[in-house]
Amino acid sequence: MNGLYDRESRSVSTLAHLRFFPQAVTGGKGCLLRGDDGRDLLDFAASWGAASLGHGHPALAESVNRALTDQAGASYLSTANEPCVLLAEKLLSIVPERAAGRVWFGHSGSDANETIARAVVAATGRKRILSFKGAYHGGTVGSVAISGHPAQGGIDKASGLSLVPYPDAYAAGSPEAASSAALAHLEELFATTVPPEEVAAFFIEPIQSDGGMLVPPPGYFREIQALCRKHGILLVCDEVKVGLGRTGRLHAFGHSDIEPDIIVFGKGLGGGLPISAAVGPEAIMNHASAFSFQTLHGNPVCAAAGLAVLDTIERENLVANAASVGDTMLTALRDLQAKHELIGNVRGHGLALGVELVSDRAARTPAIEQTALVVYRAFQLGLVIYYVGINSNVLEFTPPLTMSKDEALRGIAILDQALGDVEAGRLDPQLLERFAGW
Ligand SMILES: *Cc1c(COP(=O)(O)O)cnc(C)c1O
Repeated sequence: MNGLYDRESRSVSTLAHLRFFPQAVTGGKGCLLRGDDGRDLLDFAASWGAASLGHGHPALAESVNRALTDQAGASYLSTANEPCVLLAEKLLSIVPERAAGRVWFGHSGSDANETIARAVVAATGRKRILSFKGAYHGGTVGSVAISGHPAQGGIDKASGLSLVPYPDAYAAGSPEAASSAALAHLEELFATTVPPEEVAAFFIEPIQSDGGMLVPPPGYFREIQALCRKHGILLVCDEVKVGLGRTGRLHAFGHSDIEPDIIVFGKGLGGGLPISAAVGPEAIMNHASAFSFQTLHGNPVCAAAGLAVLDTIERENLVANAASVGDTMLTALRDLQAKHELIGNVRGHGLALGVELVSDRAARTPAIEQTALVVYRAFQLGLVIYYVGINSNVLEFTPPLTMSKDEALRGIAILDQALGDVEAGRLDPQLLERFAGW
């Protein structure tokens, strides 16, 4: 037992682990990872979307290397540095005007959402926050406090937090039914226990990814936006997983035709390096100095990574690539749905796709064990996918934005085989013993 995975288990804590199968990699190029057993693994997860340009992209390596070689310090706390300023200028140029005030930089989606949750309350004097059941806004105390994902049960929520249902068109039977039930719930709250004039902000995910890759019904977020504007509530859009080209548009909120007040970026922004950004109006973002910082925030190396990512997305037309490869994948996944009883629903935009597995299509019963077995079998066959969802039964596809149609179809052929093997009962559920997932 001297493989990398087993050595890891003797040296590295499990506190941050979210494991689905014994994956250990020693390198990667493009959409491929190299397993420590020498196998090529086709990466449909991209480390939860963080490896937006795939692995080892030369533009990223070059930009980071340049920033490191002539290093303008290691932080923006007490000095300005050029990569940070350039990245802030770039981000301001790509967001809607109402959000284009100032940029805050952090390391992760978690610290960015936590900072915004504190800043909106401090700057508006309103103490309440709204977010969605099933929402994942991060893993730090302050970001868990405004999240609604069941994997974080037992951790305290913010005292001013109210969680509202995210419209789930598949569960509700139709987008219209999901939308009207969710809106009715919110209006009921506003009329009773949650006075809207006390609400500072509504944190939304434009697609609820960790909650199950839920795509909002048409028109739903327009209604939410209208309610927020009416009551002076800031609309905070968490684009951490599905933003920056992934959905086939630059911003995922573009599919809902809304303009958030504050936008949070993370994961893919750094292409694998830790950087997040929150962009919003000056009144919020300049509320106070020394309000929320960590020493290495705004370091020029990670900012240079962000610049290379945004530049490469433009130069290589990756938004259009995500749209067209995503369409190919969606069609291929719908073909699989016709063939595999396990697939209850296929959804998503661009390269943010979800496949919900059910053991009974009529009752939409979550196929929890089968989902875990399918991702395990896919890994054995050379494809990396993970699962999400409040019931742990949604396969998630967030591959590199650079993925080709050939690679996409190759991965789906593997998925086809994995689904067939699980449906035929060829996998031993004991394989899952060491892998709790979430
Ligand atoms: C992953 C994620 C976060 C947290 O980002 P980290 O980099 O893990 O801190 C926040 N929001 C959404 C929507 C995410 O998917």
